[in-house]
Amino acid sequence: MIEFPKENGLYWQAIGGNNIDQISGHCYQYTDIVSYNRKREASTLIVDIGKFDNHQALNVSGSSAAIPDIRELLADASWNLKAVFLTHSHPDHLNGIVHYLKAGFRLPELFGGKYTLMILKQLYDEFAVAAEKRPKFHIVKDGDKLKFGSLDVEVLSSSHTCFDSFGLIIRSKDAVVYHTGDMKIDNSTCFRKPTNLRRLKALAPEIDCVVADFYGIYDDGFAVKESDTYKKLTALIKKSDKDKIFLPVYPTHPEMYLIAFLAALKLKKNVVFFGNPDFCGYLKLIMDYGISFDKMAAGRIKVVYGHDKEDLKKLKNNYVVIGTYNHVSLAFEADRHNSFGIITAKTFFNPFKGQLNAHNIPFVTVDDYPELQGFGHGFLGDYEYLNSILRGVLFIPTHCPVYVIDNFRELAAYMHINLIEPTPRNGELFKIKDKSCRLYAAQPPLWLVVSYHGEMACLTEVAQKATSGMGFLKRTISNRRCRRRFKMYLHARRRSEHHAN
Ligand SMILES: [Zn+2]
Repeated sequence: MIEFPKENGLYWQAIGGNNIDQISGHCYQYTDIVSYNRKREASTLIVDIGKFDNHQALNVSGSSAAIPDIRELLADASWNLKAVFLTHSHPDHLNGIVHYLKAGFRLPELFGGKYTLMILKQLYDEFAVAAEKRPKFHIVKDGDKLKFGSLDVEVLSSSHTCFDSFGLIIRSKDAVVYHTGDMKIDNSTCFRKPTNLRRLKALAPEIDCVVADFYGIYDDGFAVKESDTYKKLTALIKKSDKDKIFLPVYPTHPEMYLIAFLAALKLKKNVVFFGNPDFCGYLKLIMDYGISFDKMAAGRIKVVYGHDKEDLKKLKNNYVVIGTYNHVSLAFEADRHNSFGIITAKTFFNPFKGQLNAHNIPFVTVDDYPELQGFGHGFLGDYEYLNSILRGVLFIPTHCPVYVIDNFRELAAYMHINLIEPTPRNGELFKIKDKSCRLYAAQPPLWLVVSYHGEMACLTEVAQKATSGMGFLKRTISNRRCRRRFKMYLHARRRSEHHAN
């Protein structure tokens, strides 16, 4: 672990999240060191403690997870760790909490949204974390102002694929940092506040640096909006002209349940929620969160939970089945004359596609219409827009393999996107002063691989290494393809500028 800095100032580090070729295990450190009456005092905030998806590649037999290493921050009082802020509820930002508690560590107080707490409680129950071991949790919302020692923090809502995702404005004497969290610029989100652009515009003159979620940076234009997905779904259902629509959704993306429901409601088709325990668990969470499908239906359509034959009869063969299923249940009496499928996730529903093929039921997939899937992270256009609001800020990319950023440099320079140099990697501590951010110290990055022996989590240190081609990376982009794509965008921009002149 890095030694406690000798100079006062604001420090930032990606403990996990800026991997060589992987995107998970997010965890970021902010430490401000100031002097009061000749006494130096630090204030440290950790943002997110996620789990690293590809723990198998780290080769510890019997492993069940891997987590970023925050042990030094927990053990050495000089850092003065004040709190952990959880930007949202996705496992790559949240699940490390439970493993630390199971390994016997005490964590500081947690801050996050109401939905994040609901998901965390589920994890506590799943891992049998005793009530007295659970850290105090403070529920925050858009606009809240918090103080952690000499760090002032303001909470900003962000558009992402779950409820209650937040970004942060982190303010010290030396700099003002906007930590985006997972985010896209989408003002069409349903049932929650979108990315708070109004506040960002107001704060623009003060913001020096943006610690940004660059996950989607290799796609041009704006990220898919929830309204795009809704419009596409509505159009496809209408065009199919079929009585029964099969619309499976990815269980952990609650916004898709809602968008699918709203599309059915718009077309006055009844809704059947039907799926595996995972789906039903999230459906219950959405309703516990305060969303009532029956209230939204307001008698215009019927809503059925399950596939009881008597209930289905009342729907008069006019319905959309929203859920997670890998077969066309006999209960629905689906055939090619009365049914149509809309597949909203890439590989997850492959067995279901097979079923539709076997019954000759027509269907469309995300390969035909990418906007069916939705997307939680900003594309290049989102960041181009952010850069136009926050003129001259320094971008500090995260949530992105290092090679993507290195390939992006030439295009970024052309677009006047001011990128930090060198690209930060896990384990590197940077010192931020106004719009400059320089490498201060580094250590070899490592992961803590978690294995369970009965109730107790054991942690094994493993040095970070490239794990290309395995698991999660298959969904992302190769070094070569990424380089070519950025070159293409650069040429397109040069050409269009040339034509404009
Ligand atoms: Zn996320």
